[in-house]
Amino acid sequence: MKAMILKEQKKISFDDPPLQMTDIPKPVLKNGEILVKINACAVCHTDLDEIEGRIKLDNLPLVLGHQIIGRVEETRSTFYNNADRVGIGWIYSSCGVCEYCLNDNENLCHDFKATGKDANGGYAEYISVKEGYAYNIPENIDDISAAPLLCAGGVGYRALKLSGIKNGECLGFTGFGASAHILLKLVKLKYPEAKTYVFARSKEQRDFALSLGADWAGETEEYAPKKLDSIIDTTPVWKPVVESLKNLKPGGRLVINAIRKEENDKDSLLKLNYERDLWLEKEIKSVANVTSNDLKEFLNLSGSLSVKPEVRTYKLKEANKAIFELKSGNIKGALVLVI
Ligand SMILES: [Zn+2]
Ligand SMILES: [Zn+2]
Repeated sequence: MKAMILKEQKKISFDDPPLQMTDIPKPVLKNGEILVKINACAVCHTDLDEIEGRIKLDNLPLVLGHQIIGRVEETRSTFYNNADRVGIGWIYSSCGVCEYCLNDNENLCHDFKATGKDANGGYAEYISVKEGYAYNIPENIDDISAAPLLCAGGVGYRALKLSGIKNGECLGFTGFGASAHILLKLVKLKYPEAKTYVFARSKEQRDFALSLGADWAGETEEYAPKKLDSIIDTTPVWKPVVESLKNLKPGGRLVINAIRKEENDKDSLLKLNYERDLWLEKEIKSVANVTSNDLKEFLNLSGSLSVKPEVRTYKLKEANKAIFELKSGNIKGALVLVI
């Protein structure tokens, strides 16, 4: 089968594409697994972290990609039939027996395995996965629109739950990429009286947020017109975290929705002012990975509310182009490889 593979981790350079089209063997199924013929795979900022070495990889060469939609082509599972449409996200497997797994917190399992990191992912024609880690996709959402729901949406949904936001409250977003734009759409449908505030450094992204119905959009350093109940940080850097804390109400919470932060702007942390940014019981919480339940809940919700991301599509062989685009930081919505 054809796959775009990563052979070596290094800084992304526009004249040295990180992924190479290669023929690799189709996965061979074990008991309880399904073989999925992939139709679409969305590109995630975590893929950049993997390419550039912020996430350690032990099994190169590797197929990246963890926002996968396809159809079952072969099954050694009693749960799925051939031709069933399924999605696969960042959670590839977990141990199933530890205290976290037994309490629906597999995202914290010591043996959490990630798709496109600990196992080959979706920048390819096929993938195999255990039956419990594939999810039904709502019929009213097409493959290309559904792919970004598997991480940008699903992990974002976990961040939204951790933010504790309620209808009528004020929610902020720092950064306005794939994840924040899906969450904004979801919040407007699920909490129609909530107000949304977006902090983004590019005017295109601020305008994009306003066009999707954000109540206010400003630059990273700005004061929002109101104090916010919670903020979800969707950026790969520290500056927006530190700059946004002053906008939280007393007792407000900031949730960091990122697997890794880039180290090159660590100095931003030195600007943290305890009195202005954290005093009065403000909280900072990180989001780790995603659980199977988060994905099931979020996919059901997306189907019933018809949450559809804005997407730009690429062919599998154009995966490097999508990576460069994402790295440039000036994207509108989500990037999806059509396979
Ligand atoms: Zn992701
Ligand atoms: Zn476990």
